[in-house]
Amino acid sequence: MENFSRRSFLQKVGIGARTATVLATQSSFAHANQQHYEGKKLNIALCGLGRYAGYLADSFVDAKYCNLAGLVTGTPQKAKDWGKKYNVPAENIYNYQNFDEIVKNKNIDLVYIVLPNSMHKEYVIRAAKAGKHVIVEKPMALTVKDCQEMIKACEDAGVQLAMGYRLHYEPYHLELKRLGQDKVFGQVRLIEVSLGYKTGNSIPKEWRLVKALSGGGPLMNLGVYCIQSSRYVMGEEPIAVTAQFGKITDNEKYSEVEESITWQLEFPSGAVATSTSSYNCSVDRFFASADDGYFELHPAVSYGPFRGRTSKGELNFPDVNQQASQMDGIGKVILDKQKLPSHITGEEGLKDMNVIEAIYEAARIGKRVLV
Ligand code: NAD
Repeated sequence: MENFSRRSFLQKVGIGARTATVLATQSSFAHANQQHYEGKKLNIALCGLGRYAGYLADSFVDAKYCNLAGLVTGTPQKAKDWGKKYNVPAENIYNYQNFDEIVKNKNIDLVYIVLPNSMHKEYVIRAAKAGKHVIVEKPMALTVKDCQEMIKACEDAGVQLAMGYRLHYEPYHLELKRLGQDKVFGQVRLIEVSLGYKTGNSIPKEWRLVKALSGGGPLMNLGVYCIQSSRYVMGEEPIAVTAQFGKITDNEKYSEVEESITWQLEFPSGAVATSTSSYNCSVDRFFASADDGYFELHPAVSYGPFRGRTSKGELNFPDVNQQASQMDGIGKVILDKQKLPSHITGEEGLKDMNVIEAIYEAARIGKRVLV
């Protein structure tokens, strides 16, 4: 990542005062990671050492306000290997049985839950009861009710619950949000945002294809990003949805979860957001049409680098380490003993889950469902 000072960063991206303020408060410190910082860092333990936890672990090198301080894993060999690779002391490494002992560990401030979706609820609640702040990966849980219980457990324990929504700290997405919410091109009328990839054949089935572990197919895994961006670009909550399951082309693979799903969100302003999330085709794009122009990203939702344009020309923002930006953004607020803004918290995950449940219901019954 380039070494941007805040000033050169803002000059380079050539953005207006409001966006500058948003970036300054939400993510610019992540670009200044090479600047010297000697203050207290937030000590994070990663819980669940799979593929995405690997991305997160490798990202701490770009983080200014966070340390990788602990690990939680059920695999003794991973405890050994990751402990060595990331220099995590043995006393900060837990398994799923002794995890609750983390309550006694003053050197861990926050637990980042990177487990299969069905395990998010249990581990968020256990981390909260141990007095640790929590970041939980998307989707927040399997149901609205679970999300509510997780939020309550964190409130009761007096800890903060953040969502692992990396795009809230990503410059292209902050710009999409500004263009939509500030009506820079007038009222947005239509959003088209889709995310999909082709899954491989895995035997035994990977957990994403097992409903009890994932809660559902590509809607839970990928569609959540489409719902997110539709909501934050509009700055409105959808009032109704229609949805359609795609055809199942592999009965064995998709015996439990959908292979693809398409939906339409209706917003109070009259705007419509239409999306597909899929495990059988590759797609990663965002497009918004407004009264006086358009704006789009492609690629749009993956780890980047993103590319985008508006009806007035190319968007040109730096490619940031999304994971480091997100952890620093959350970490700085917690270190400053401030409350996370609500769009970073479990409340945001809950809102998305509410929409996800409505989409599944609409696809199931084949009728428009009020959110
Ligand atoms: P993964 O399969 O690579 O890792 C899951 C980890 O959980 C593994 O270490 C596995 O050993 C452990 N685990 C413990 N109990 C398990 C069980 N019963 N079944 C299966 N695994 C079990 O998955 P991942 O891709 O790292 O996803 C983990 C979470 O992170 C998911 O909630 C996913 O949606 C989220 N994620 C987020 C992003 C993002 O960009 N924010 C990207 C990928 C994944």
